[in-house]
Amino acid sequence: MDTDWQALKSELEKLIGTDVPARNRSGPRRVVAVDDEGVWLSRRGKPQPKPVPRRDLLWAWTSGGSKQRSFSVTLIRAVLAARPPRPHEPPPQTTVTVTVFERSNAVRVAVRHRAAGRCEVCRKRAPFETADHVPFLEVHHLTWLADGGLDTVENAVAACPNCHRELHLGASSKTLTEKARRALGRKLAAQSHA
Ligand SMILES: [Zn+2]
Ligand SMILES: [Zn+2]
Repeated sequence: MDTDWQALKSELEKLIGTDVPARNRSGPRRVVAVDDEGVWLSRRGKPQPKPVPRRDLLWAWTSGGSKQRSFSVTLIRAVLAARPPRPHEPPPQTTVTVTVFERSNAVRVAVRHRAAGRCEVCRKRAPFETADHVPFLEVHHLTWLADGGLDTVENAVAACPNCHRELHLGASSKTLTEKARRALGRKLAAQSHA
């Protein structure tokens, strides 16, 4: 996780001095500093900066988002929006829209169960077991919820951390997503005929 944090931290540092919108009406937060505790934000009229903890930021970076950690999601989206555009792609929107989705625990449980300890993208075994002896795989939505994808087992794969990161950030993430979608289609078809 530490190398993850170093990578994310350097991305977050690019936001220092910028304003990030808040979901509620409390006004934008100015990113004032990034250190190993997390990101420090101040808002107008409140001189004392408050931190968004590193743990929440890492969580949002690797797995999407949740209501409780909404501001970490906001910051991660700001990081992604600040990246230089890829050639032949439209530049990122300058406003950061934050939509936070509730994700069903039942879907995550069912997808991990279906994966049976193997990444549904690269087919390798989960890299480690968690403290409760469950193979560690992350659940990824093939069509992102932000793009109107459904939170269903047909739109989700269990992925190892490498594949999951590549699905989000890789140069060939679109190809990899389509590959994962076809593999999932075959798997679901085989299950329905079993
Ligand atoms: Zn994998
Ligand atoms: Zn994902």
